[in-house]
Amino acid sequence: MTGKGLKKKKKGAEIITIDGPAGAGKSTVSKMLARRLNYMYLDTGAMYRAVALGVGQEGINPEDEADLERLCRTIKISFQGDSQNQKVILGGEDVTEKIREPEVGGMASRVSMKRQVREAMVKLQRKIGAKGKIVAEGRDTGTVVFPDAEYKFFLNAQPEERARRRYRELTVKELSLKMEDVKKEMIRRDEQDSSRELAPLRPAPDALLIDSTELTPEEVVENILQVMKKG
Ligand code: C5P
Repeated sequence: MTGKGLKKKKKGAEIITIDGPAGAGKSTVSKMLARRLNYMYLDTGAMYRAVALGVGQEGINPEDEADLERLCRTIKISFQGDSQNQKVILGGEDVTEKIREPEVGGMASRVSMKRQVREAMVKLQRKIGAKGKIVAEGRDTGTVVFPDAEYKFFLNAQPEERARRRYRELTVKELSLKMEDVKKEMIRRDEQDSSRELAPLRPAPDALLIDSTELTPEEVVENILQVMKKG
């Protein structure tokens, strides 16, 4: 683990952020950590995916700023259930499965570059975060959404390993995918997320970096809990 160290170290943290690129293990680790601590799990990626789905359902051109703005003003995204069995609800519809489709991921990456979308989602994320005791997972939770979070972690892993994990995850549902294509798509999305103007994917200066290439999710969670214990 590397990093400059965490600024605020409080007993009984209220907000823990887990950032990092696709395939670094963020979701698995965040859910496990939330369960261990009995915290709420806030999946910010799911929110951008829900917006992307909304764009598709309403036939909106993602480049049309006025339409996007209108969608963001009216969209209703919420979570139900606990960290192990969380459902994503879009306007009353359970979209937990639908938002995981690869095209939705691509569109999420596209719409998440838009100011209107980021402002609306960050506002909602902070509202949820205000309740405290949450593990917030995403690409900007430590840098933008919760800059004062008590604990910030940035998970990363070698691209080969990240692609392997994505591939395993996706092929559970879609057997025809090729590993090479998954890797290409992942790298393209990382580049798009890292080079965008608004909230680019990067570690917060006070985040602790964890390379999960050779660690199991359980080991990553143990590392995090150790850090919190020492804090
Ligand atoms: O993490 P997940 O793959 O579900 O996120 C989908 C997309 O949403 C990402 O590729 C990224 O473009 C966007 N996203 C974001 N900021 C976050 C979480 C996700 O821009 N905090």
